[in-house]
Amino acid sequence: MKILYCASEAVPFAKTGGLADVAGALPPALAEQGCEVRLMLPRYRSIPLDGLRPSGAVTVNVGGDAATGTIFETAIDGSLVPVWLVDQPEWFDREGLYGEGGRDYPDNLRRFTFLCRAVLAWLRREPWQPDVLHCNDWQTALIPVLMMAEETRRVPTLLTIHNLAYQGLFAAEEYPVTGLPPSLFTPRGLEFWSKVNVLKGGLIFADTLNTVSETYAREIQTEEFGAGLDGVLRDRRADLFGILNGVDYATWDPSNDRLIAATYAAGDLSGKRTCKAQLQRTFNLSAVANVPLPGMVTRLADQKGLDLVAAVIEELLRAGVQFVLLGTGDPHYHQLFESLAARHPQQVGVRLAFDNTLAHQIEAGADLFLMPSRYEPSGLNQLYSLRYGTVPVVRRTGGLADSIVDLTPQTLRDGAANGFVFDEYAPQALLRAVRRALATFKDQHTWQRLQQTGMRADFSWARSARKYLTLYERARAKAAPIPKG
Ligand code: ADP
Repeated sequence: MKILYCASEAVPFAKTGGLADVAGALPPALAEQGCEVRLMLPRYRSIPLDGLRPSGAVTVNVGGDAATGTIFETAIDGSLVPVWLVDQPEWFDREGLYGEGGRDYPDNLRRFTFLCRAVLAWLRREPWQPDVLHCNDWQTALIPVLMMAEETRRVPTLLTIHNLAYQGLFAAEEYPVTGLPPSLFTPRGLEFWSKVNVLKGGLIFADTLNTVSETYAREIQTEEFGAGLDGVLRDRRADLFGILNGVDYATWDPSNDRLIAATYAAGDLSGKRTCKAQLQRTFNLSAVANVPLPGMVTRLADQKGLDLVAAVIEELLRAGVQFVLLGTGDPHYHQLFESLAARHPQQVGVRLAFDNTLAHQIEAGADLFLMPSRYEPSGLNQLYSLRYGTVPVVRRTGGLADSIVDLTPQTLRDGAANGFVFDEYAPQALLRAVRRALATFKDQHTWQRLQQTGMRADFSWARSARKYLTLYERARAKAAPIPKG
């Protein structure tokens, strides 16, 4: 089967969050399952053009103006996946991917309409033809709409929702930028409370839909999690599936991670102690080996439950824990955590940056990993934490609910327990869960059982990739013309 995977970010080229991890790892995993996969994404400033070979150019119409993109070809290192980069310097050779200084670029509709049109224009002239076009999030969600509205050769589409909160909302006056007919700007199309909602278009017109965990696939059909699109998703529930993201163990595994102070594995955790000591030094925390050290690596966004952390952290510090956080995002949280670190320099380490090396070092050096998310489509960090023997404390939502098994006498006996889970979105509920974790931490025998269960679990991409293959088959069956007669 031939798959064209379209995304707005992918490791190792450009990354703001989990989508990049998925787009960099799922295509190679599909290739290993026997698919012929290609990846297509914009050529951002973070991707140097040196040594890249232009394969051709496409000119498309964006809001009445002709725009040309050069297509460069490269590959994901060490994989069988060729990558087409769409180069349009005016729109993509910028500091950020979607915005700067916490603000979205005002021409994002233009930029990503261009990307979607460039993908389709390229396919019209390229001999290599996919059996399925796999789109991701709002930035590539216009592809299924354009496919339906304009293309003569229809390729079946799958649209993956990585986070329903980001929908690509624009003022109604901008609708002509899409070049779509006015008949599609209705509540049964891209119109959403008098605005343009690009993701909604994709949700309506893609042949098949999925999101990145089974629980989140159910949650988004409810008003609480549906971000205004729950009705559309309920209408499409027969075509909506959930597949938990996987982990790229080539980059996230303490037994061969070159970014951490010492490697280690489930059978011998001594390297983890070295990593903890190194992490304490990095953040100038007191060098005490047995003080519990919870860590976080996260976008600083409301979604991530940071208000709960802020509400309980002082109490945890009084109980003697240390705490490290790596993140960027909402300036409000920058201030909050910066001032926390200033008040407790020996106990709290905060780095307000995007730093992949430090992300690995926190996964390796922390004892616990906090993810009290309000919602979490899949979540990757709890899966990384499991592999690093860093016990997750999570709220029961989305992919967290699908991967973390709360410690109870029963789950411990079954050998299933791998973390601590709480339900209610409330500071006291988080506090109780962390307290349970801290009490267990004192019992090193049980703690090590938790760590080892997590470290031995298999959340590799191969598993998820096989599930995607069945969705591709479904998209093809769905898009196949109904036989006449
Ligand atoms: P989301 O996609 O909502 O941001 P995920 O847990 O699914 O959350 O994925 C986040 C990814 O981004 C992980 O690979 C995580 O390590 C990484 N990440 C998030 N913030 C930072 C940061 N400040 N520095 C380095 N990596 C980060």
